[in-house]
Amino acid sequence: MQFEFKVEKKDKKSKARAGIILTPHGKIETPCFSPVATKASVKALDTFDLEKCKTQIILANTYHLFLSPGLEVIEKFKGIQKFMNFSGPTITDSGGYQISFLWKRKENKALFLKITNLGAYFRSYIDGEMYLLSPEKSIEIQHVLSADIVMALDQPMGFGFSKKENEEAFRRTLLWEERSLKAWDKFKRKSLAGNFQALFGIVQGQLDKKRRIQSLKFVLSNDFSGIAIGGESIGKDPILTSTTLDSISHLLPDKKPVHALGLGGGPEGVFLAIEKGIDIFDNSSVTRMARSGLVFIFPEDGGNTKNKFRIDIKKSKYAKEKKSISKVCLCFTCQNFSKAYIRHLIVSKEILGARLATIHNVSFYHQLLGKIRSAIINNEFVYLKNYWLL
Ligand SMILES: [Zn+2]
Repeated sequence: MQFEFKVEKKDKKSKARAGIILTPHGKIETPCFSPVATKASVKALDTFDLEKCKTQIILANTYHLFLSPGLEVIEKFKGIQKFMNFSGPTITDSGGYQISFLWKRKENKALFLKITNLGAYFRSYIDGEMYLLSPEKSIEIQHVLSADIVMALDQPMGFGFSKKENEEAFRRTLLWEERSLKAWDKFKRKSLAGNFQALFGIVQGQLDKKRRIQSLKFVLSNDFSGIAIGGESIGKDPILTSTTLDSISHLLPDKKPVHALGLGGGPEGVFLAIEKGIDIFDNSSVTRMARSGLVFIFPEDGGNTKNKFRIDIKKSKYAKEKKSISKVCLCFTCQNFSKAYIRHLIVSKEILGARLATIHNVSFYHQLLGKIRSAIINNEFVYLKNYWLL
């Protein structure tokens, strides 16, 4: 099997759609949330936990895995799936986000040296060795990591860049995308494990409508397998994300899946992005928040846009609470443990606390996406959205 995307049902009142992505490692029902496994691990969970949470796909980071454990190790396993014993589909990013974000942070100047049209020069934070992350190198690394979906190298805009820097980043991304396509062809569009790898082009442009459209048209005019939407404006603020997606959602085709890179904004951000045509997204804050005791709740538990559908389990009011985090959640944590126990674990910094809270948050997102998918199929998306957000 290669790679295929089929839209099963479209919402009549918005761009929301339910579909199926077929990959060499199985199918993904969309819309779908992908937990982030930065260093080939969704922090605090093993792959059996992920199975329990009904995780369909995970996203790992090229930059981090290249530096540690390094390609020699991953090569031995013919990819991250076997390395981490995860049987489902996987995605890798291109490393573009890390080079852009970390380069801009002043304290990392010693590690991130220079970005030119050739690529990004940086030093390993482990041994100080210098590397060049070019589009060709990024595809080569991703070929070895062997994920089902890989990304073209981009230089995300934003992060406090000047107008001139943003303009340069925009033009550079177009150049790098072309070179990523050529490198993909050089590897015959296959992973080291011998499976087809789908290459997604990246849409940049921040809030600049003209640039976003130009960037999307470029991706659509080339033979990319899918579309990834990146940049700082697809981040924390749901309204900003929605505005950004608004400018291009009417141009998104039925034939290609659309991935939002690092889509934040909690459940509200999820609804607003899906109604603009997003099929899949990753977000590392879902698991990061769990580790700090911020756990999600459903509307039936009192979750709303004001409390961002979450509670801080560290609060003393939960110290003696026998009930689970959510009365409607079907996850392993909610079926077996009280708020008081999870609070105690998190406050005492017991590693089990991180695991149980992460199982809940990841499972919460999968349940939310499952509800959204069913609602789209049953023509009830707007009804469900209003139930959650109004
Ligand atoms: Zn739960």
